[in-house]
Amino acid sequence: MPGRVLSVASEYVPLVKTGGLADVAGALPGALRGQGWDMRTLIPAYPGLIAKAGAKVVVWSDPDLFGGPAQVLAGQVAGTDVLLLDAPHLYDRKGGPYGDPGDFPDNAKRFAALSWVAAQIARDGLPDGWLPDILHGHDWQAGFAPAYLRFSGDTRVKTVMTIHNIAFQGNAPAAMLGALRLPIEAFNSDTLEYYGHLSSLKAGLATADAITTVSPTYAAELMRGDFGMGLEGLIAHRSADLYGILNGVDDTVWNPETDPEVKPYGKTTLKRKAANRDALLAEFGLQDTSGPLAIVVSRLTDQKGIDMIVDTAADFVGMGGALAILGSGEQRLEEAMKDLVKAHPGKIGLRIGYDEALSHRMFAGGDAVLVPSRFEPCGLTQLYGLRYGCVPVVALTGGLADTVIDANPMAQQANVATGVQFHPVDALAFGQALRKLMELHADSKGWAAMQKRGMSQALGWDTSALAYAQLYESLTA
Ligand code: ADP
Repeated sequence: MPGRVLSVASEYVPLVKTGGLADVAGALPGALRGQGWDMRTLIPAYPGLIAKAGAKVVVWSDPDLFGGPAQVLAGQVAGTDVLLLDAPHLYDRKGGPYGDPGDFPDNAKRFAALSWVAAQIARDGLPDGWLPDILHGHDWQAGFAPAYLRFSGDTRVKTVMTIHNIAFQGNAPAAMLGALRLPIEAFNSDTLEYYGHLSSLKAGLATADAITTVSPTYAAELMRGDFGMGLEGLIAHRSADLYGILNGVDDTVWNPETDPEVKPYGKTTLKRKAANRDALLAEFGLQDTSGPLAIVVSRLTDQKGIDMIVDTAADFVGMGGALAILGSGEQRLEEAMKDLVKAHPGKIGLRIGYDEALSHRMFAGGDAVLVPSRFEPCGLTQLYGLRYGCVPVVALTGGLADTVIDANPMAQQANVATGVQFHPVDALAFGQALRKLMELHADSKGWAAMQKRGMSQALGWDTSALAYAQLYESLTA
């Protein structure tokens, strides 16, 4: 029977976003409502969020939450219930959710506090009688939430931890054990301890009833030394409780027929995509070309394989391709991107920064989206690419492996290909994939058919929501 879920996250679309976690946390409540599950989400009240969510009703308070007064205010955003943890000593700061630039030095405490409050609300419920059956934590920021519940002796509330990216583990010095209200007995290698430190993600993975991650392939990869980042042993040990559930795409936000940033088109009016391509070329100051206009919308980090784009870009534009890049991240990669633009004016365009609206225009105008990630738990940009007829060129890893069908000879024969995949994940194989992209693009009939197949793929949240609902039901049965 459907019940109630307290979701705990550090980001939430449309309130605060730095990456895919925000999209998922924001989309889940609406998607689960269709399955009968009632989800409320606890997030930190970063500056301005209380007003944005119109949150007025105080539903929880504590005069001393890890060093200062705190309260939780209930609000609504885009028809979903949010609980905002207002603790000015922890969250009322300039910069992004984690610091800007660099991390805030007290992040371990900031998110332990979020997890602490989540555990309290999960156990005791809210004044309106809302009592959760499930606590669902996202990433390291919520890792201590299932742990606090277990340490308090509660077994009524079932707990789920979702790994969106294992690269971020929330490590803190062991000396903080007491300050973070963690019991000394839990400081062992089966629970909290990670190479002499505390790890909030590990705590969550060790104590939650179930673990999910955002694609079946990433679930399998996480049990291996080359992907598990030190937690592979624990995850393999918990493999019976591990589930890979793909993220979906929010169709109300990502739909080329209704997107306000886009000159509308769909799979039956695909020719109209050309106007978006022209506009994008103009916006990036690029010359027209008969080759594919490829886009990159990404954090500029090694994880995302941005160095491989640097290594292959000259060949790609030499073959007649054009490249429009939107991203921000590591300075060395930003510099490398700027050098590319200088070396190939009119063929490579760049915007450094984060620009949601521009990203929509890029998927609408682009012929192909490049995602050469070294690891990719699920990945959203290849999904947006599929949705917008912007053919994905992806590394064969994680969610990229699960969502794109490579245009290999058999898939071509069976007319099922939706993109290009490459493996091993290095610049040589990526270069080959770009060559294949050129060939595929040159066959305009085959290309349009591939775009339409991608646009027809079911990418919404329905399937994923059903999988989460089934998991919740299995835990509460
Ligand atoms: P990750 O969460 O690892 O960064 P995902 O592909 O799961 O990767 O999610 C990234 C999200 O952030 C997508 O919605 C993508 O469109 C968006 N995004 C990334 N960089 C930018 C940017 N510079 N401007 C606008 N949106 C961006």
